[in-house]
Amino acid sequence: MHMTVENELFRETVSRFVQQEIVPNVDEWEQLEQIPRELFRRMGELGLLGIEYPVKYGGAGAGFWMTVVLAEELARCRSGGTAFSIIVHTDMSSPWIASVGTEEQKTKYLPGITSGQTVCALAITEPGVGSDMSSISTRAVLDGEDWVINGSKTYITNGVYGDLYFVAARTRETGRKHQQLSLFLVEGGTPGLSVSKKLSKTGMWASDTAELVFDGVRVSGTNILGQEGEGFYQLVAGLQRERLLSAVLCISAADQTLTDTVEFLSQRQTFGQSLSTFQALRHRIADLLTEVEAARQLTYHAVRKFVAGEDCATEVSMAKLFASEMANKVSYECVQMHGGLGYMRELPVERFARDYRLWTIAAGSSEMMREIIAKSSIS
Ligand SMILES: Cc1cc2nc3c(=O)[nH]c(=O)nc-3n(C[C@H](O)[C@H](O)[C@H](O)COP(=O)(O)OP(=O)(O)OC[C@H]3O[C@@H](n4cnc5c(N)ncnc54)[C@H](O)[C@@H]3O)c2cc1C
Repeated sequence: MHMTVENELFRETVSRFVQQEIVPNVDEWEQLEQIPRELFRRMGELGLLGIEYPVKYGGAGAGFWMTVVLAEELARCRSGGTAFSIIVHTDMSSPWIASVGTEEQKTKYLPGITSGQTVCALAITEPGVGSDMSSISTRAVLDGEDWVINGSKTYITNGVYGDLYFVAARTRETGRKHQQLSLFLVEGGTPGLSVSKKLSKTGMWASDTAELVFDGVRVSGTNILGQEGEGFYQLVAGLQRERLLSAVLCISAADQTLTDTVEFLSQRQTFGQSLSTFQALRHRIADLLTEVEAARQLTYHAVRKFVAGEDCATEVSMAKLFASEMANKVSYECVQMHGGLGYMRELPVERFARDYRLWTIAAGSSEMMREIIAKSSIS
């Protein structure tokens, strides 16, 4: 059983926190185009950050299903950007310290990450390279005991106010393409690291997104994360977690949007009747609920394989592909069922449509997911 009593109790805690301390503020954070740092600190106080990390670093030593619960409840806040920013910190960047970091790196950084004092960002994508991760051009060169990093990164979530950047850079020019990358820890404020632009986006407004420049950024030799030349494989391994959680966010947010839409249909009257009485709309809701449930079951299946440590790249890619495409279908249909109101700024359904458009693009686009799935069965 994945949803244990412990996980369901945790769900209640997260849900209460989301409804009481996030939902009332999301409109303001959407306008500010970032969530406040205090939110990370508050979540740290409540023990909601880094729940899978060992207790000695401030974590709870929990399993991945508890993280699934965290993402499910965060997605219900009706601000995709808020949930995205938090999950980037907890699950799309910092896990690399736990999985491949040295004891010194864990001791130095994990307590700040779990307490919410240190906000994390993942910096892989560059202006010239996104999907084709192994072709990044940011370079890190050894100079004595230090590494010196030069290059630029773009679309970096939490990039504007990040305290700790997980940076992918090329450390070799020859040999196998997939053995030329390494991961580095770069602290915000390191000389040579600057935010060249805060990016303006279609949706996900509450998550800040930056373009970064690395101009002779010097970090100690101890800031390399994992083995030199192993960065590509480390990234690919970590991306399974990122893709699963993006699927979970899509499913839970789509479910919330359908709940909101059903409520709207029962209140809105046309032709002397509530919209919820029209069979055309009732059946559309039934189809969408079925798709949400199919996405959930496919994703839970992939999570089970992931948790069991089995090879799950195909199932994870299927879950990410299906859930993100489903969320976009739900957003289109739910905007439609709201009529003109669905096209108005700041209505949750309109925000959902803008926010969740992202997920067929980021964390591995739908095309990349199809490539992975096809490779597993077509030689
Ligand atoms: C809001 C936002 C937040 C993000 N946050 C982060 C972050 O925190 N850290 C980070 O490192 N990155 C982040 N990204 C980057 C994201 O992961 C990339 O945008 C994504 O990987 C796609 O890369 P690209 O934009 O360069 O598109 P490209 O790789 O240029 O692709 C363009 C299009 O072509 C398709 N395509 C590419 N190659 C093929 C092929 N071989 N066959 C078929 N189709 C193909 C793609 O699927 C896509 O539809 C973020 C992006 C956004 C928009």
